[in-house]
Amino acid sequence: MTENRHNWTKEEVLAIYNKPLMELLYDAATIHREHHDPNTVQVSTLLSIKTGGCPEDCGYCPQAARYHTDVEGNDLMSVQQVKAQALRAKQSGSSRVCMGAAWRNVKDGPEFEEVLEMVRTINKLDMEVCCTLGMLTENQAQRLAEAGLYAYNHNLDTSEEYYKEVISTRGYEDRLQTIDNVRKTNVTVCSGGIIGMGEKLEDRAGMLVSLSTLNPHPESVPINALVAVEGTPMEEQQPVEIWDMLRMVATTRIVMPETQVRLSAGRTQMSREGQAMCFFAGANSIFAGDKLLTTPNPDVNEDMEMFKMLGLNPQKPFTKKVQPQTTEAGDSKYKPLGEKPKWSRPGHVIDKNEEAKAKAQHAKADK
Ligand code: SF4
Repeated sequence: MTENRHNWTKEEVLAIYNKPLMELLYDAATIHREHHDPNTVQVSTLLSIKTGGCPEDCGYCPQAARYHTDVEGNDLMSVQQVKAQALRAKQSGSSRVCMGAAWRNVKDGPEFEEVLEMVRTINKLDMEVCCTLGMLTENQAQRLAEAGLYAYNHNLDTSEEYYKEVISTRGYEDRLQTIDNVRKTNVTVCSGGIIGMGEKLEDRAGMLVSLSTLNPHPESVPINALVAVEGTPMEEQQPVEIWDMLRMVATTRIVMPETQVRLSAGRTQMSREGQAMCFFAGANSIFAGDKLLTTPNPDVNEDMEMFKMLGLNPQKPFTKKVQPQTTEAGDSKYKPLGEKPKWSRPGHVIDKNEEAKAKAQHAKADK
């Protein structure tokens, strides 16, 4: 059995990534079979509970308020709306609901109380609940855990070096701090990244080093292929080739054998054959639903057809870890602290981001 290692170096990871493809796929598939049922794939539904209007400047994201995209912003959904969507997701084979809010960080207050109620509601539907709400403190992580949260998503996106070329409104260390805050609870960690943002292979390897040297490894690692959205600073990036996706998935599988590796954004650009190869190379999770927050995703029925064709089965909830208990709001051990943590704001200039922002301002002025 291949052991988990937490001391991977960039050189080692790059050497794996650059192996002859057939050898890489064989190694990844072998490790995958040692640790997972190769015919089971976990299915998550991603729900945007609060869309757009985000103050951050992530260069890939159409939800950043400063860029001019077609994304229409929405206020926070109600608990009832979320429950209805979760039930639909459950009926179509999802074991997990991931709720995303376009926030820089979690703020104590009525909206966070609503999110906690959403977590309680979905956990009571016997589904795994995940949230991606931006940076959060240890107390906020404890409150989510107490409500019954199964996983918290907080992507590292890319290497520490390239992060500075993508985002100027927060630092890599903020991401690591939030992951650390989640780790102090019994909530599992979901953290991955995006390829196709103009990064070098060294940056892909660097991101995998950052993730695989965490101890324990994140329980889930989503691998996204950039969806270049018009109006964002990355609108002109070329689509990611399937060969890059395959190498990234296989390398992730090898360096983090027990992790669930998730095919995330960019699946609409992949053929079924391409996706099948990714499952062979160790991907064992997908996002289902026709939208991934704001970008397109294959239809659920198409995915279920693909599963049938490939002989894959959706993973049952709580296969990897027991269902967390839900504590009701009135019985809570943790109270809101009203903290105002000083998350960093490096504020360096990223030319592409500034150009996209200026373009958006002109478009607004021309209206
Ligand atoms: S990725 Fe998240 S934090 Fe960044 S702009 Fe988009 S919604 Fe905001």
